[in-house]
Amino acid sequence: MLITCPYCGPRDLAEFTYQGDANRARPDPASTDQAAWNVYTYDRVNTLGDHAEYWQHSGGCRAHLKMVRSTLTHAISSVEFVRPHPGHKPSSRRKPGAAP
Ligand SMILES: [Zn+2]
Repeated sequence: MLITCPYCGPRDLAEFTYQGDANRARPDPASTDQAAWNVYTYDRVNTLGDHAEYWQHSGGCRAHLKMVRSTLTHAISSVEFVRPHPGHKPSSRRKPGAAP
C-alpha cells in the first residue's frame, strides 16, 4: 500500500507509523472528570467505511499526518499535515550538494 506524504510524495506503508484515531476529542488536561477520561482512553468506534486517522511518516520526513482511509478498501481519500510546519515547504528544501 502506498501513502502519499504531502512533502515526500508516494511512499510505502512500511515508512509510516499509525498514531491513532483522529475522531476522538481529548478532555481538558486539567479536567478531573474520570468518565470523560475513560471514554477518551478506552472507548473505540469500529468504523465501517471512511475513518480519520493520525499517522507519522516516521521513515521519512517525520511529519504527523491526518488521513482519511476506508476500512473496507484501504483506499486513502485525503492526506494532510496535522499542523503547518515551516520546514515542510518544498521551496525551503535544499538539494543535495547545494550550497547552504
Ligand atoms: Zn514525508
